[in-house]
Amino acid sequence: MSRWVHVNGDWLPEAAAKVSVFDRGFLFADGVYEVTSVLDGKLADFDGHAARLMRSLAALEMPAPCDRDRLLALHREAVARNDLTEGMVYLQVTRGAAERDFAWPEAPEPSVVLFTQARPLVEAPAAQRGLRVITVPDLRWGRRDIKTVQLLYPSMAKMQAKAAGCDDAWMVEAGHVTEGTSNNAWIIAGGRIVTRGLGTEILHGITRAAVLRLADEAGLAIEERAFTPEEAKVADEAFATAATIFVMPVVEIDGVRLGDGTPGPLTRRLRALYIDEMRRSAI
Ligand code: PLP
Repeated sequence: MSRWVHVNGDWLPEAAAKVSVFDRGFLFADGVYEVTSVLDGKLADFDGHAARLMRSLAALEMPAPCDRDRLLALHREAVARNDLTEGMVYLQVTRGAAERDFAWPEAPEPSVVLFTQARPLVEAPAAQRGLRVITVPDLRWGRRDIKTVQLLYPSMAKMQAKAAGCDDAWMVEAGHVTEGTSNNAWIIAGGRIVTRGLGTEILHGITRAAVLRLADEAGLAIEERAFTPEEAKVADEAFATAATIFVMPVVEIDGVRLGDGTPGPLTRRLRALYIDEMRRSAI
């Protein structure tokens, strides 16, 4: 079944959706993106994603192609045209087509692309069994707080995980876990929920922020600090967060099972709290 894809103002059948070979997103990975989940046909945490997009664009001195209201309208049109009830909307903004040159064009005309992917999110099979992860060195660039389309290393790390018969990789730098290939990493130890603090070393996850808020409202103890792989392997529970996986249990790290090897009770509670909140607040 063909999807409707948005490219620079037009809605096209996916086979006809194309951008220029001179697009700087294609030539230099000079672009940023957002992935917003769709639940019951509505957008979860849209404003968080829109705000982070603007932040990523500003960090790269890229002009915003439109304002928040127009972005919302585009997202809603993507959902409506594709009859999407559950899944995600992918948005990419690049600096657009220009003669190939390391220096940016002075007056770029950004490319804007949106497409949808239908996928069960609430009843994702992985949420029942939990993820098995490996640790790998974090060899990405130093501005991971900007959500660029420069995803080759995380993609390589994911392939390494698959080759090891696992689901994902947690990346490690200077002895501490930074994050997963496409998610933020968390552990629960001694009743405390631990996730790395914000900085340039990790993406400032929109799901991470929501989970911190919900955990705080539920009166749970939280520590925003870096943790080591060794600490993670003896933790009571672990999980990963991202827009399309919500709160996803992690049950094994480098072949070491956490607890009894099944999703932990606090992780399951946080997942349920998060899904309830997104269902309530989606627009
Ligand atoms: N960290 C990385 C490297 C990611 O790619 C992502 C999502 O794609 C996240 C964290 C989670 O971010 P969010 O919760 O905003 O989806």
